[in-house]
Amino acid sequence: MVKHFPELIDPFKFARQAEKLHGKFPVAQMKRLSDSLDSDGGDVEFELTFDRKERARVATGSFRTDVKMVCQRCLDQVNVAIRGTIHLEFVEGEEAEGRFEDQGYETVIVKDNSLSLLELIEDEVILALPFSPLHEKGECPGSTIVEKLQVTNQNPDKPNPFAVLAKLKKDQE
Ligand SMILES: [Zn+2]
Repeated sequence: MVKHFPELIDPFKFARQAEKLHGKFPVAQMKRLSDSLDSDGGDVEFELTFDRKERARVATGSFRTDVKMVCQRCLDQVNVAIRGTIHLEFVEGEEAEGRFEDQGYETVIVKDNSLSLLELIEDEVILALPFSPLHEKGECPGSTIVEKLQVTNQNPDKPNPFAVLAKLKKDQE
């Protein structure tokens, strides 16, 4: 069941109430994320449990999404499964410091008791994206197409743009 969340949440109140959230956001609503992708289809599913840890306000959980990126070897589309865990500590004001950073908690500065849940999840997904997405070794569909085109293009007067691409590819290897 998909719950509808307000755009802004109060993480301190949620921590007091030990709130549990489970839901999904469409990738298309995440502008910064979709800019890094080859398609804005699909959803980001997440679950998040707010709680108090000693006197700090924290949230832990996980997210998952399947996105389409551009393979850096063949420049074709590649499906990338993104899975991650979330460990957040909420602090008030710029000067406040997170106390659990050495335990892997990321400090989130909250202004006016309000935080965009969508942006929070979006940030987590962006951090989890691979820097250089690639198909599995030997499974680049694009590289096969490049080789075929090179063979069929026999016009010597016209430089073959794919040859340039293939050379770039070779130089990278
Ligand atoms: Zn590829």
